Amino acid sequence: MADAILVLNAGSSSLKFSVFLVDGADGLALDSKGQIEGIGTQPRLIAKAGSGEKLAEDALPADEVAGHAAALSRLGDWLGEQLEGHSLVAVGHRVVHGGVDYGAPAVIDDAVIARLEGLVSLAPLHQPHNLAGIQAVREKLPDLPQVACFDTAFHRGHPEVADRFAIPDALYQEGIRRYGFHGLSYEYIAQQLPEVAPDIAKGRVVIAHLGSGASMCAIKDGHSIESTMGFTALDGLPMGTRCGALDPGVLLFLMAEKGYGIKDLERLLYHDCGLKGLSDVSNDVRDLLASEAPMARLALDYFVHRIARELGALAASIEGLDAVVFTAGIGENSPEIRERVCRKAAWLGIDLDEAANAAGKTRISKAGSAVSVWVVPTDEEKMIALHTWKALQGETVTGAGQAAAS
Ligand code: ADP
Repeated sequence: MADAILVLNAGSSSLKFSVFLVDGADGLALDSKGQIEGIGTQPRLIAKAGSGEKLAEDALPADEVAGHAAALSRLGDWLGEQLEGHSLVAVGHRVVHGGVDYGAPAVIDDAVIARLEGLVSLAPLHQPHNLAGIQAVREKLPDLPQVACFDTAFHRGHPEVADRFAIPDALYQEGIRRYGFHGLSYEYIAQQLPEVAPDIAKGRVVIAHLGSGASMCAIKDGHSIESTMGFTALDGLPMGTRCGALDPGVLLFLMAEKGYGIKDLERLLYHDCGLKGLSDVSNDVRDLLASEAPMARLALDYFVHRIARELGALAASIEGLDAVVFTAGIGENSPEIRERVCRKAAWLGIDLDEAANAAGKTRISKAGSAVSVWVVPTDEEKMIALHTWKALQGETVTGAGQAAAS
């Protein structure tokens, strides 16, 4: 019999979950993870155990699983059987936006929900779904503690020059700032470094989170100093389907000369750009690496070019560079992309160990490399579970009343 923490990541049509068991000696152990996908269309429950063994792959009745509340109810039934003998003690939620207030997770109460609802306009594609997940748990289990963990929180300590655009102050005060995202991933990596790479943990490190969403973050002594993502998760690196940095004049042109409206721009920038838009082949780096199409090669060239360019910029931001860490789907699994980035960044003092890189070792730079290079798997769900567990013990979290206004 162990205490269990449920981690939820509610998206537009999916409810991803992980269950961690509190293990007295070692902290948290993954029990199971999965998702209900196709909510509102063709819902399916997919789940596997922490060991990788398949636990479920079931079609669910579409008329019964039409929204997040119904999906959660279904998940609750499944978890009830799965967790027999264990006791659910809290739910941790991934919440995309904590605005300027939250530099740490928050125990959810009415005031926190009201504040998070006020941030919907800053992340209209994600925040409402995150809130729907929170509300659905509240309705079903009103007394169960819930904790909101924010993608923006890790970046709240940025120096002001990294938090601003060169726009009038009134707009900044209204919330148009460089929030930065993927914070739970960066925080997890920063926590891992003292164990994995103690020599660099206190140093100047750039972490490249390269997944279907991609960004980079410069940290110093474990604290985020600057990120490539800004007001939304569109800025910075090109991604699977998102554009990355784009001259805002392009948007003015598209609106003035080609009649684009908000929905057209949203579709273009979030879904039809990035590797997919540029290559017209795929949003998946594996497909592009396997393709002979010239535009697939160009898309990868552009991806590598922009990563290397941001690496130089972020090194300037932290006034030097001791190490680079690759993480997320592409960063953890593609030796080719890592090698190409490292070659372009040789001028910074990176001497790649090609054999270690190809073998997927943790340290992939040569012993004498002035800047060391590492591959560290990220685990955003574990980070959320850790925060939630700590919140239960009354540590490092803020309620709305204590939220730091910056
Ligand atoms: P998300 O951002 O959705 O959490 P992940 O971090 O899991 O995504 O990354 C998913 C991406 O990782 C996929 O789009 C795919 O391009 C890339 N990926 C996964 N495995 C490999 C691989 N072996 N080589 C290159 N890219 C890979």
